[in-house]
Amino acid sequence: MNALYQFYAFIMGLMVGSFLNVVIIRLPQKKDLVHQRSACPQCGTQLRWYHNIPVFSFIFLRGKCGFCGTRISWRYPLIELLTGLVAFWLFPDQLDNLSLAIFGFYFTIACIFICHFFIDLDHQLLLDSLNLYLLAAVLPFVLFMYHWNFWVIGGTIGFGGTLLVTWLFYKIRGQIGLGGGDIKLYGILGMLLGPMGIVFNIFLSCFVGAVVGLSLIGLKKTTKDKPLPFGPSIILVATFQIYFPEYAHRLQALLF
Ligand SMILES: [Zn+2]
Repeated sequence: MNALYQFYAFIMGLMVGSFLNVVIIRLPQKKDLVHQRSACPQCGTQLRWYHNIPVFSFIFLRGKCGFCGTRISWRYPLIELLTGLVAFWLFPDQLDNLSLAIFGFYFTIACIFICHFFIDLDHQLLLDSLNLYLLAAVLPFVLFMYHWNFWVIGGTIGFGGTLLVTWLFYKIRGQIGLGGGDIKLYGILGMLLGPMGIVFNIFLSCFVGAVVGLSLIGLKKTTKDKPLPFGPSIILVATFQIYFPEYAHRLQALLF
């Protein structure tokens, strides 16, 4: 029976992923998310219902627009599949209220992470609206699960610590290191990860960001002057910490 529920969770995840694709494209452009039907960005033809089936439409159309033949990005089915697999993987064995609420929490966080990740890649932007959704999901969870010490200090380090470092960096070097969206994201994650967790995240995400940045410069994919989105590094490390806590704790113990 549980396999059947998990299968439904996967299908639901595919559909949510399809919606996340819409969010990733339209939210930074401040476009309507629900009332506007999807159209091909090249020829502008409105898609039919059978062009909108997650993953399958992409395969059935062989990755091209059904009207003008323009290539459709691999990212669409990839995000749908990823969201489906996350729902499948997170779906609980026990179907009591608490397990389902915890599933809802972790799945919501994953969806916001996916949107943040790709919007920041595309636009160098961590939107306030997504940070607010993240806060709305995290706040009741930490109020319920943790002592106030844990999340108040974690949030203060995440927000205040990175704000201070950014300010000092600006005073000394005259450059803006982190964007406001990064600092807010660190603050909210600090509440969820706690004091040690957020210090570990800041340390590791800076390391990941530096490695990715230097590799891209080495491969001549970018230059030193071009701003590199930093959100994806924060989100990758936070994903590791939130969804693979045992491994994260082991690495944390090794480094600190
Ligand atoms: Zn087209």
